[in-house]
Amino acid sequence: MPELPEVETIVRGLREPLVGRQFTGLRVGWENLIARPRPELAEGPPVEEFERGLVGRRILGVKRRGKYLIFALSGGGSLIIHLRMTGRLLITNSDDELDKHDHLIFELDDGRELRFNNVRKLGRVYLVDDEDEIVGKLGPEPLDDDFTPADFAALISARRGKIKPLLLNQRFMAGVGNIYADEALFAARIHPERKADSFTTGEIERLYYAIRQVLRQGIENRGTTFSAYRDAEGREGRNQEVLQVSRNTDQPCPRCGTLIERTVVGGRGTYFCPRCQK
Ligand SMILES: [Zn+2]
Repeated sequence: MPELPEVETIVRGLREPLVGRQFTGLRVGWENLIARPRPELAEGPPVEEFERGLVGRRILGVKRRGKYLIFALSGGGSLIIHLRMTGRLLITNSDDELDKHDHLIFELDDGRELRFNNVRKLGRVYLVDDEDEIVGKLGPEPLDDDFTPADFAALISARRGKIKPLLLNQRFMAGVGNIYADEALFAARIHPERKADSFTTGEIERLYYAIRQVLRQGIENRGTTFSAYRDAEGREGRNQEVLQVSRNTDQPCPRCGTLIERTVVGGRGTYFCPRCQK
């Protein structure tokens, strides 16, 4: 699933082609991608309400919050997109050949299109008056300037569970997923099953800086492509080339040479070095 660095890369790639553009039409191949307006509250078919609410509006800005993309619209309100497992957002010309997984196509006033390609159809699209309806409960952004080591320490010390599932909990902190959690825990030399209330001050600080470092590196490398992820122009990321533990089972640890192991923590495949992560 795209995580913070992948979504950030897509957002940066969408700003130039999209800001100032107007939505002129919508083609819907799989209407269950549309999660707002809520079907149960819509006056008519939710797809029609979505289209009525969107067409004619201009895109004033594109930003990221956690793993969500948020498009601010003229007249107020926002279009919000979550890519989930296999979602891609691509800018294309209107006469470019369609892919059979282009399930939602936003037509733009410059003749181009924003296509939401979704092999597994798990992505979600929301049209809301207030973005907080969707992203209001997310935890802090780990790369925000005003998110300090002390803030992170306060978050951790209020928790008791295992650290890896906590890092994946979007209400704890927004944007980190399976790959960057494993990489940050490796960089901080912390075992993924350590309990949050067992951390020393030094370990908390190490983890804080490790999270920020692996996320920044991910953005610099334009995201990690193991399979589905592409940026807004359809290009793969390069961060998979520098990952230290993810999917490196039975490869030597870059720090100590011990073979990297895979285990399952909180239901998620987890890679770590059994020797240098305590
Ligand atoms: Zn090691």
